[in-house]
Amino acid sequence: MSLVIVGASLAGLLAAESARRTGWGGQITLIGAEEHLPYDRPPLSKAQLDQGTADDLVPLRTQAELDELGVTTLLGTPATGLDTAGRRVIVGDTSVAYDALVIATGATPYRLPGTDNIAGVTGLRTHAEAVAVRRALDAGARTVVIGAGFIGSEIASAARKRGLPATIVERLDVPLSRSLGPEPGAICADLHRAAGTDLRLGVGVSGLESTGGRVTGVVLDDGTTVPADLVVVGIGVRPATAWLEESAIASTTATAASSVTPRWPPRHRVSGQPATSPTSRTAASTVT
Ligand SMILES: Cc1cc2nc3c(=O)[nH]c(=O)nc-3n(C[C@H](O)[C@H](O)[C@H](O)COP(=O)(O)OP(=O)(O)OC[C@H]3O[C@@H](n4cnc5c(N)ncnc54)[C@H](O)[C@@H]3O)c2cc1C
Repeated sequence: MSLVIVGASLAGLLAAESARRTGWGGQITLIGAEEHLPYDRPPLSKAQLDQGTADDLVPLRTQAELDELGVTTLLGTPATGLDTAGRRVIVGDTSVAYDALVIATGATPYRLPGTDNIAGVTGLRTHAEAVAVRRALDAGARTVVIGAGFIGSEIASAARKRGLPATIVERLDVPLSRSLGPEPGAICADLHRAAGTDLRLGVGVSGLESTGGRVTGVVLDDGTTVPADLVVVGIGVRPATAWLEESAIASTTATAASSVTPRWPPRHRVSGQPATSPTSRTAASTVT
């Protein structure tokens, strides 16, 4: 019997460990788009932005621990499709057969359209992106964060901690008001201002300026331009389910939570952060 877990991050790892703990004796294969063993993301926007941080990544489990657990890893190999009838995960030109499947592909950040090739513009979801942001801060970047969510707030704080200019651009009049409510949001705004962050509220972005393929400024829809060497886009995430678009379960993934939904074919589970609900962040504890 073969259990395949797509998504080699926290939820995927916990699904593998839960499977073993609850008696799964068959093969377990963990497929990951990134080249790294599963790692923790919260430090990416915190300690890993500090001056003097090493590029090295400390995985949640070592290769030896995964070997001991009997987990085979296929890393740097994104799943590109799913054949539920044939019970195969498509990985580029090849495929991996399964008897049971866990989908733990998490979330992917929204990007600003048309900015993929502009140097200095990034999201912050992966280790590689955290390294890029830290290196830009090391170089003294003038930072503009688009979106005053948690991650955006942390990046602005990291820049101000180093005494670098930091601007947050936020469409809402009160940052974090949708997740925390207006009063805590207003307190966060005050904290940003006290730290010296230039907070632009109630305004959107109408474009970016660049020279020689590198960002130089963010144009706001009130007509002002904020100079920038580093632009971090933190405007939210969507489920990382593009690879399922052609599959039989495509229509359910947008609304699936980490709990089992009756519309899913038997032996298919979704785990971790792909659910649209911000509260559905628990890893699956059962795989059958
Ligand atoms: C910068 C940052 C800071 C955070 N800080 C906090 C915090 O302070 N507190 C908190 O509670 N939460 C925080 N979070 C959120 C937390 O990290 C997530 O809830 C958690 O990572 C969700 O785990 P997951 O395994 O469900 O999804 P993810 O961590 O998103 O993992 C999904 C994995 O699937 C892989 N994948 C995607 N598509 C494919 C594919 N087609 N084939 C194979 N693999 C694929 C991805 O590469 C990724 O490795 C933070 C997140 C980030 C990005």
